[in-house]
Amino acid sequence: MSELLSIDQALELVLGRAVALEPEDVVVAGAAGRVLAAPALAAVDLPPFPSSSMDGFAVRSRDLPGTLTIVGEAAAGRPATMAVGEGQAIAIATGGMVPAGADAVVPIEDVHVDEGVVVIQGNTIRGGLVRDRGGDVSAGALVVAAGTSLGPAQIGALAAAGLTNVSCARVPRVAVLLTGTELRAAGEQLEAGEIYDANGPMLAAQLRSAGADVDLLPAVRDDPDALRAALERGLAADALITTGGVSVGVHDLVRGTSAELGVEEVFWGVALRPGKPIAFGVLGRTLVFGLPGNPVSALVGLELFVRPALLALQGASDPRPPFLPGRLGRAVRRTATRDSLLRARKTVDVGSVVLEPVGGQESHMIARAAAADALVLVPRGDGELAAGSPVSYLAL
Ligand code: AMP
Ligand code: MG
Repeated sequence: MSELLSIDQALELVLGRAVALEPEDVVVAGAAGRVLAAPALAAVDLPPFPSSSMDGFAVRSRDLPGTLTIVGEAAAGRPATMAVGEGQAIAIATGGMVPAGADAVVPIEDVHVDEGVVVIQGNTIRGGLVRDRGGDVSAGALVVAAGTSLGPAQIGALAAAGLTNVSCARVPRVAVLLTGTELRAAGEQLEAGEIYDANGPMLAAQLRSAGADVDLLPAVRDDPDALRAALERGLAADALITTGGVSVGVHDLVRGTSAELGVEEVFWGVALRPGKPIAFGVLGRTLVFGLPGNPVSALVGLELFVRPALLALQGASDPRPPFLPGRLGRAVRRTATRDSLLRARKTVDVGSVVLEPVGGQESHMIARAAAADALVLVPRGDGELAAGSPVSYLAL
């Protein structure tokens, strides 16, 4: 077993082969979930003009305190046509353009308005009521860095800064091929020895959340010819994910058949539980992952290796699994030679995340895993890891 790779070693080998796909132009409004391929620079100053952050009066601060003549109005989108002169004020709305001559805004709550004049007592100038032109970002400056995954805040920023299109790596096309003579799709009748396919719908959901365009191929029997034809089809994608048939049984045909088709195996076997017999290879630029058939093994293998690979294909600046610190809710037994990923439920207790492993940690127990919202990394070792021990976890 000593020849098994560690999780980190295996991940480095995967990332070493996952080269960013070519960029394409994407409309900002449709770019959520995409990864920026080039820095996005502001097309305009933001705000594009000095504007008021409150409803009130635009004034010259040196005229205060005083009784000022109201000479006009500046609503949002309708700037005042005149400047503010000595002893004058212009009524202004939130978002209205601060007129020439004015250097301050006095909020409506702080003044008394009376027949064409505004009475401003004392020194009621507050800072920050005029939003400076370019105070958020200047034209030509960076709005969102390359390698950033675009979420709601980034989309809003790009739109506000006047960008209509951005450059993003193309969406990776991922084929999923389930192997196993025993597999039936939901809705079909189970005969003796058959089970429902869990991995297809599960992996498709995971892959889509990683930004992939998923092609779920029809499941294939443990038959060399059928497998070969299906693999050939899947190898046209940017990544091919198979499940099952990757261990050492006589019906485990995925590695041998992949090799016959020219797939170069980069590794097979990671010191990981569940999910040890995971295979990774390449054919040209296609990444080929052979995940074990047990659903929990497949789930874990996808989070540890496939999701990072897909993020790397999209040019993400940090594609590695985002492990976070927490502590164990109860003692767990360690595995001597393999790092474990336990399915756990997380809660927050005085500022730290407590991870309670769910009952039923065997790799076929996907129904038990449904109670979990985290994968807890328990490093290999002897004996137990005590309750309260610091651990790292991946949110599911
Ligand atoms: P294998 O990796 O082919 O040896 O399969 C390991 C275990 O996972 C066996 O019990 C299979 O029946 C089961 N299995 C394989 N593929 C799936 C699947 N798509 N959904 C649910 N269980 C599966
Ligand atoms: Mg099988």
